[in-house]
Amino acid sequence: MSRLKLIQGDITKLQVDAIVNAANSSLLGGGGVDGAIHRAGGPQILEECRQIRNKQGGCKAGEAVITSGGNLKAKHVIHTVGPVWNGGSKNEEQLLANAYRNSLRVAIENSVSTIAFPNISTGIYGFPKRRAAEIAIETVQQFLQVNESIREVIFCCFDEENTNLYQQLLK
Ligand code: ADP
Repeated sequence: MSRLKLIQGDITKLQVDAIVNAANSSLLGGGGVDGAIHRAGGPQILEECRQIRNKQGGCKAGEAVITSGGNLKAKHVIHTVGPVWNGGSKNEEQLLANAYRNSLRVAIENSVSTIAFPNISTGIYGFPKRRAAEIAIETVQQFLQVNESIREVIFCCFDEENTNLYQQLLK
């Protein structure tokens, strides 16, 4: 059976080991899914983000860090930073793949076996949705082929367009 699952809805409601946040490099919160996660998860998550920021100075595009889930049902939040879409010639595709891959790496290091991703970079950061979905699915599939310890990866789509794209591509 496939370990990939698609759902449409609010990622903050999911009961999984970890949800992934499409953060920005400051790690200090923002709009979109980032804002929703900090609102639902409470101040504990932001405090842990501040500590990480003090230690390593934020998080670059393509990288990922982990905090607790605060008041969320999820045990952890993995904060990754997707690339800002800049026309496609600034290594955006590679950076988006890195964001998925490094989130999964951090997940494994923390014994996470169920994880949910939002559609990283496809909101405020403007990455074309179809291409982003292709990269997300391909990167996760490749990772799962060589890593048995992740039991389930949920693509949590929020908008209709992404949901339809993932539905087509996961068929
Ligand atoms: P980015 O800056 O990486 O583009 P955004 O938060 O603007 O991040 O958007 C990323 C994706 O998250 C978008 O597809 C947006 O529709 C989606 N999104 C926004 N709120 C939520 C939520 N509560 N749960 C899941 N996905 C969400």
